[in-house]
Amino acid sequence: MGFPAVQRPHTGKSLGAGERAAARSRPAGDEQPHALLEVVHAPNRTASLKNTRPADVVHLDQVVQEPIPLGQRRCRLAAAGDRQRLIALTFDDGPYPVTTPLLLQTLAELRVPATFFLIGRDAQQFPELAQAIAAAGGEIADHTLSHPNLDELGEAAVTAELHGGATTLQAIAPDPAERTLFRPPHGRYTLATIQAAQAAGYATILWNDDPGDWRSVPPATLLTHVLKHATAPEVLLLHSGKPGTIAMLPELVARYRQAGYSFVTVGSLLQRASAAELNHPAKLPLSGS
Ligand SMILES: [Zn+2]
Repeated sequence: MGFPAVQRPHTGKSLGAGERAAARSRPAGDEQPHALLEVVHAPNRTASLKNTRPADVVHLDQVVQEPIPLGQRRCRLAAAGDRQRLIALTFDDGPYPVTTPLLLQTLAELRVPATFFLIGRDAQQFPELAQAIAAAGGEIADHTLSHPNLDELGEAAVTAELHGGATTLQAIAPDPAERTLFRPPHGRYTLATIQAAQAAGYATILWNDDPGDWRSVPPATLLTHVLKHATAPEVLLLHSGKPGTIAMLPELVARYRQAGYSFVTVGSLLQRASAAELNHPAKLPLSGS
């Protein structure tokens, strides 16, 4: 992969000496080749989240002590035309009655794979829905057991949330991704969160675009946002349980396919795209508005 770089999390200060030492102390060759921390836009959410700034990103094998200025974080490393046109749809939370089956049906009709970051407690409540996701070929990943704000928890509690979520999911709908792909609830994390996740063997997956569907935005508004902010490659943050999100999917899929994109799971994307591509995707707007 060859692009180990870690941006410090959003504390507004450089890593302390102890933190740097801790980061350096990871054994060389401790291969988490896809240990990506993809922190990209969450412009609609960040204002209200005290600890979530649109930080840069990052690969966790090594610390870059000089942070990349925010203004450069989406720099183009290559023309969009040279980039792999791959997109991973990710659906956070749930599973939920009604909307999860409807989402699965829509994805099946569109023949689009997707990655589901499930909440362990929700899966406990609706185990048949988690099983349905797996049966439909969905990739099931860890979104913690109880969906806490991980930036408010210590490393041990973070680890417990990760393992609790994975253990729950594995008992219901086994998928190796449960123990390798993790997304922090609300995109809230600290350095301790990331280190706990990495120590547990997880890649921390954020996103390239957040159209704000968690606010129940109308489908046309969502679609406009997504097309305008398309990147290559792309991890798109969406949520389960949102009818507007399901409603926009057919048009979204059609537009991306017209532009030459293939839909993949996060696990597949991590195998096919480099860390540099994922952390600095090329902008590729699919609409002019
Ligand atoms: Zn969530």
